[in-house]
Amino acid sequence: MTAVKILGIHKSFAEVKALDGIDLTIEDGENFAILGPSGSGKSTLLHIIAGLEDPDEGTVEFNGVAQNGIPPHKRDAAIVFQHFALYPHLSSLENITLGLRHGLGLNKQVAHARANDVADRMQVKHLLDRKPKEMSGGQRQRIALARALARQSGIVLLDEPLSGLDAQLHAVLRLEIASILRSVGATGINVTHDQLDAMAMADRIAVINLGQIEQLGTPDELYAVPQTLFVASFIGSPP
Ligand code: ADP
Ligand code: MG
Repeated sequence: MTAVKILGIHKSFAEVKALDGIDLTIEDGENFAILGPSGSGKSTLLHIIAGLEDPDEGTVEFNGVAQNGIPPHKRDAAIVFQHFALYPHLSSLENITLGLRHGLGLNKQVAHARANDVADRMQVKHLLDRKPKEMSGGQRQRIALARALARQSGIVLLDEPLSGLDAQLHAVLRLEIASILRSVGATGINVTHDQLDAMAMADRIAVINLGQIEQLGTPDELYAVPQTLFVASFIGSPP
């Protein structure tokens, strides 16, 4: 079963061609990674999937249904932004429940029950009363992830969810995110510039460069032909 089908996506900002003909099919329950250097169009693609931006051309389908014209809060997708995007004046609990109440229309009791449940799973229950400035970067990122998971969307979109974390937390959260997405049965689309993250987290990886998909395959398949991967992701040297 196909969860997300992307066909012929083009997007320009003035003279910059951010996306230049993207086609992708992502299966239900798959952990998918989009890997590419800074400026290659990753965030733009994620925003178009979420409905935060409209493509100039092309279509996005979820479960066979065209999403063009459907606003973000009505799509079966939750996004975790690169820089958390938590409201600074709200507690973690309020950050998690705001979208549930106003976006999904859940009542206070149900929204709080969901927030508690997901906080339990993410081991952040003790942080529910804190505001973003009272937490570390890693804790804020966990809350941002909890907020996305609490929507119980079929599709979870993650924009560089591990950037800015220290090495140890980075390694822990990388495995945790993949396993949490699997345990809730969500389809994950994870954007990263770090090939090791993509290799560790994803069932399949699309390598994007200059707004085009250059390579597509499982980590093993890409590992077997590393040249393009390593050139495109501009990261380190092959192990
Ligand atoms: P990535 O997430 O891979 O770093 P982006 O999707 O953010 O890349 O950006 C792709 C290209 O589009 C870059 O050249 C970027 O400068 C440009 N771009 C992205 N968003 C905008 C915008 N709102 N206005 C103008 N240019 C943009
Ligand atoms: Mg980006």
